[in-house]
Amino acid sequence: MKYIDEGKINGLLEKTKNVDEKEVDEVLAKSLLLQRLSLEDTAKLLSVTDGHLLEKIFKTAKEVKQRIYGNRVVLFAPLYISNYCANNCLYCAFRADNRKIKRSHLTADEVRGQTEILLKKGHKRILVVAGEAPPPSKTNVDYYVEAINAVYAARVGENKIKRVNINCAPLNIGELKKLKDAGIGTLQIFQETYHGDTYKKMHPRGPKSDPDNRIDGIDRAFSAGIDDVGIGVLYGLYDHKFETLAMLSHVEHLEKAHNVGPHTISVPRIEPAEGVDFNAPYEISDGEFKKVIAILRLSVPYTGLILSTRENPRFRDELFDLGISQISAASKTSPGGYNESEETSGAQFVLGDNRSLDEVMGTLIEKGFIPSFCAACYRSSRTGEAFMNLAKPGTIKGKCTMNALITLKEYLDDFASEDVKRKGYIMIKKEEEKLSPEEKQSLRRFYEDIDKGLRDEYV
Ligand code: SAM
Ligand code: SF4
Repeated sequence: MKYIDEGKINGLLEKTKNVDEKEVDEVLAKSLLLQRLSLEDTAKLLSVTDGHLLEKIFKTAKEVKQRIYGNRVVLFAPLYISNYCANNCLYCAFRADNRKIKRSHLTADEVRGQTEILLKKGHKRILVVAGEAPPPSKTNVDYYVEAINAVYAARVGENKIKRVNINCAPLNIGELKKLKDAGIGTLQIFQETYHGDTYKKMHPRGPKSDPDNRIDGIDRAFSAGIDDVGIGVLYGLYDHKFETLAMLSHVEHLEKAHNVGPHTISVPRIEPAEGVDFNAPYEISDGEFKKVIAILRLSVPYTGLILSTRENPRFRDELFDLGISQISAASKTSPGGYNESEETSGAQFVLGDNRSLDEVMGTLIEKGFIPSFCAACYRSSRTGEAFMNLAKPGTIKGKCTMNALITLKEYLDDFASEDVKRKGYIMIKKEEEKLSPEEKQSLRRFYEDIDKGLRDEYV
């Protein structure tokens, strides 16, 4: 596979097999200076199995996340627009050979309807997700653009979606420019596995069977002017240590080629899927998964880490502490899934966390995390390199906290249950105390605007 030197990665994993405490401490000291780690440093951390050293890694990850992003966690909802697919990925319910699921393409009106349901719950950020087969007489990209326009057009009172991201098939540069013109935020393409033979086995037919076209899809996004990109591994397909190092060598390639790495990294784990008889060949345990998340936080401190509702609530709550900075909440993975009456067939995989958005908000607040619906960076052109230049010296943290507090008050005033309102207003008071006098004054002005009915302001 392009950009991935399997021999080098295996060599590093072999070389760092017997790492001692001193070496781990040296790497962690580097992390505390908020420096990017080398592949070798990362391999050293991946080899740790000792409980005491693992605790040190977890503690450092929490500290680094706190220093760069503060204690905010950004929330979004996926919106599945289609489950038709020309590919045959062995693990996915949408695979072409699966006759057991009900298939559908949402129309633009249906996309707007689904978005309105999400807006009524309080969501402000949407990830559009699609299989790789457009409705008859449309191309993939025209269908995606139609859906993005429909999401941005939806309104519930003063509320609208502020940022649409997309997880879709790799496109060519001309097509990607159409997505850019439609106002796309982050473009996500998960490589699934960076191991060449495993990639071939898992993706036997269809356009996705070419790994180089997929990995180059991210470079083409940069060429088309989309500089917020998201990458990911589907953990469970191959050895998690190899996959993590390989994904980080993909990051190194992007940094070299485009001066900036990915905006986000996603860490899906294989879940059971309807009509699919597939067992993860390299199942990753909860303990190993926790370790991978903490190590990613240390290795690429400025990159957002996304966790989906594939994980169960108890475990998700534990992972927030380790550096996760964005989560989905109250998700459905079938097209039309947000309708109350929708049957359950047609979903991509079985969800681990079925809590409502309000319940997730309540838990985050109880645990001391400020839930955020902010999309300010994207709307102020703080993307790609410009974002990283703010994130690196820690400047972004102040903005993140202010915007999180603004969007939290909007949520509490407009959508929250009585219980979450009570907890949320207490959190706002406590967080206000931590602000500088100027920030306090500025936040008060925003809050007066919100009380007057204004929405959607940001710094
Ligand atoms: N079809 C496009 C593609 O494959 O890139 C985009 C949408 S696909 C539905 C989004 C992601 O879902 C895939 O990249 C894969 O990582 C993930 N996925 C597929 N099957 C899964 C499963 N059984 N459990 C967890 N995640 C899964
Ligand atoms: Fe299609 Fe994507 Fe599922 Fe593969 S992972 S079958 S490409 S929807």
